[in-house]
This record gives sequence, structure tokens and C-alpha cells, in this order.
Amino acid sequence: MSGEVPAGRRGRLVVLVGPSAVGKSSVVGKLRSEVPDLFFSVSATTRDPRPGEVDGRDYHFVGEQGFDRLVADGALLEWAEIHGGLQRSGTPAQPVYDALEAGRPVLVEVDLAGAASVKAALPEAVTVFLSPPSWEELERRLRGRGTESAAKIERRLETARAEMATRDDYDAVVVNDDLDRAVSDLVSLLVGAGEQRA
Ligand code: 5GP
Repeated sequence: MSGEVPAGRRGRLVVLVGPSAVGKSSVVGKLRSEVPDLFFSVSATTRDPRPGEVDGRDYHFVGEQGFDRLVADGALLEWAEIHGGLQRSGTPAQPVYDALEAGRPVLVEVDLAGAASVKAALPEAVTVFLSPPSWEELERRLRGRGTESAAKIERRLETARAEMATRDDYDAVVVNDDLDRAVSDLVSLLVGAGEQRA
């Protein structure tokens, strides 16, 4: 995988990071309706679909063997073990390169390690941390989701704590206290002028 995208034909690449339950899916859903040519990278993952998740739309649910094959083929731009190794998720490379080459804005949603890997591979990427209004609010949302076991929730809280501690490492921080404002901040980063900080 060369990673070469012809100069002058690049779309803007935004890498969105944020704790689980910060509201990323609402933000991403609204972003997709407001930026019609946005390319949203659909990750491959080893985990099973949650209720309501659709294969090919929310993730490519490829299983352990399918994931091994993608890694062996060098087909992933980055991948990481998530939640202490409970699952692996990664970004299929070619669709991202194709969209950038076509000049489309690209949104990649990954964990911390993934953001660093994408930035290393494609330094023009703008990394964005989607932050909850407060830790208390995030904890309330994480516990309230009610779809997972206590052990899984504890693991998510642990991951979220580590993620919150890194919020200053990104090119921009967008606080998700107001959906419309958070989305409009991201629209500016994706299609707006300059390297503005939110
Ligand atoms: P969930 O299982 O709740 O959908 O996602 C858990 C974590 O995996 C989130 O932090 C999410 O950003 C991360 N994630 C999802 N897709 C990818 C990916 O392709 N690469 C990496 N590195 N992390 C991902």
C-alpha cells in the first residue's frame, strides 16, 4: 500500500476520536446528512453486531478469520485492539485513498492508537477529539446504555478515562454539549477554511 494520493486532489481527512457513548453516532449521522459528498470510513471489526447495527453500514463484521486475512493482505490503513483486546477494529485503506483522490472530505472514526497511526500514515489528517460536556455526563450515558454486562461497562469506563486524559493531544477538541454546534464545528473542519481550532 503506497498511500500516495496525487497532490492537489486531496479531500480533507478528519480523524474523529472520542469516548464510547460520547454521542459519536448522532454526530456522525447528522454530519453525513449535512455533507452529502462526505466519505465515512466503515471499519472492519471482529466483534458481533449490536442490536440495530447493519453489516456494511455500521461496520464490516468480518469475524476473527476475516480480520486476520485483511491484516495479512495489508488492506488496513490502521488497526487496533480495542477494550483491552476484546475486539480488533481497523480502517480499510483503499476506500479512504480513493475518496481522497476524488477530492471528497473523509471522516474516519477510530480509537486513540488508530488516530496516531492515521496521522503517521497521512500527516495532512486533522485529528479531532469529541468530548462530553463532563465526565459525570459520560459516565451516566455509559451506564445507561443497558446493552452490556457490568464487566464490559467497567472496561468501557476504563477506556474512556484513558481517552479523556489525552484530549489535548489532538489538532482540535469539539465539545458535544449541543449537537448542532458540534456538527457545525466538524463541518468547518471538513470543508471549511484553514487549520482552525474548535
Ligand atoms: P464500538 O465497539 O463501541 O463500536 O467501538 C469501540 C471503539 O473502537 C471506539 O473507540 C471506536 O472509535 C473504535 N474503533 C472503531 N473502528 C475502529 C477502527 O477502524 N480502528 C480503530 N483503531 N479503532 C476503531
